[in-house]
Amino acid sequence: MDQTEKLIIDIIDQHRDEVIEFARDIYTHAELGYKEFRTSQKFVNKMKELGLHTETGFAITGVKAYLNEEKKENACLALLGELDALRIPEHAYVNPETDAAHCCGHHAQMAGIFGAALALTVPEIAEKLGGQVVFFATPAEEYGEIEFKNQLREQGKIRYGGGKCELIRTGAFDDIDLCLAHHIQPGDEIQVGSGTGNGFVSKVIRYLGKAAHAAGAPDKGVNALSAASLGLQALGLNRETFRDEDCVRVHPIITKGGNLVNVIPDEIVIEKKNSLSELASNFASASDDGERIFKEFNRMINVERAYLVIESDSIDGIFEHKYRSEFNPDSFIRTLITWQARNYMHIYFCKKENTARMIYELCKNCLDAKILK
Ligand SMILES: [Zn+2]
Repeated sequence: MDQTEKLIIDIIDQHRDEVIEFARDIYTHAELGYKEFRTSQKFVNKMKELGLHTETGFAITGVKAYLNEEKKENACLALLGELDALRIPEHAYVNPETDAAHCCGHHAQMAGIFGAALALTVPEIAEKLGGQVVFFATPAEEYGEIEFKNQLREQGKIRYGGGKCELIRTGAFDDIDLCLAHHIQPGDEIQVGSGTGNGFVSKVIRYLGKAAHAAGAPDKGVNALSAASLGLQALGLNRETFRDEDCVRVHPIITKGGNLVNVIPDEIVIEKKNSLSELASNFASASDDGERIFKEFNRMINVERAYLVIESDSIDGIFEHKYRSEFNPDSFIRTLITWQARNYMHIYFCKKENTARMIYELCKNCLDAKILK
């Protein structure tokens, strides 16, 4: 570890309480994807306090704060932190206003970026960096609330439900050469990876029946819940046909299950997500898979009078990012790597194998790192 790296760690340690306080604040005010307005604003405030030029509104709530803008032509590295949380209303630290809780640990990512910014903005360190650094708070990493996201689509506010896809689509990564993201994980082991995540197909499935008094006139109703129950079973029975190498995951939830126990349910809504490994490269088979499942689905649902509407069919995938240029990251990257030494690190957009390997080589000297893929 050289003097600069040591100084970075010392500065972060000196600000320990401030970083933890920021993390706690985010943790206890969790927000869901594309609704992270408070979290986003807190991040903006911190970046402005550090004197950084800050831009907002990337994919609704995303924020970019720029350090060393005059060196951006050399190389631009983004440090990514996720803004969003998961909807878990029964969690001990749930935000009662949003029903969200930071069970995936994204509050720690925000704190990690803040800690990095605290150290890297110190002039003595900033001047040693050979390029620009963007502290990038990114929205909607978790997928969910498909109906809400469909509304945003209809309003023209987004095209993709996943924050990264939307950021790529809108060009928010175009000025960035390399992104580093990190994620906490159970245990002490530190891992470094470079690969693609899952892409997926999401659907909103609406079963429509006919309401009737469940006790007084049950024969007059058409029970949409019965149809949905059979549909979910049919879907479950398909699981054994998925090949291991396709890494297919199918995970539906019922978001509307009836109105009143005394009324035969006339509308059931299911949100469903099919995740597949590397959807971008296997997109054709992903689509086929969706088709196949729903053909089966329809074939196996043999409930007279109730019918099925697949209301939306949206696809979010991992997109290839265009590299602006090759660059030689040497100490620039090594310096930045030290700040997240306690976290799982995932290197996004390392399209070139040798870039990932080079970062790994740099990491393994200072960390007990291993390459995942
Ligand atoms: Zn996560």
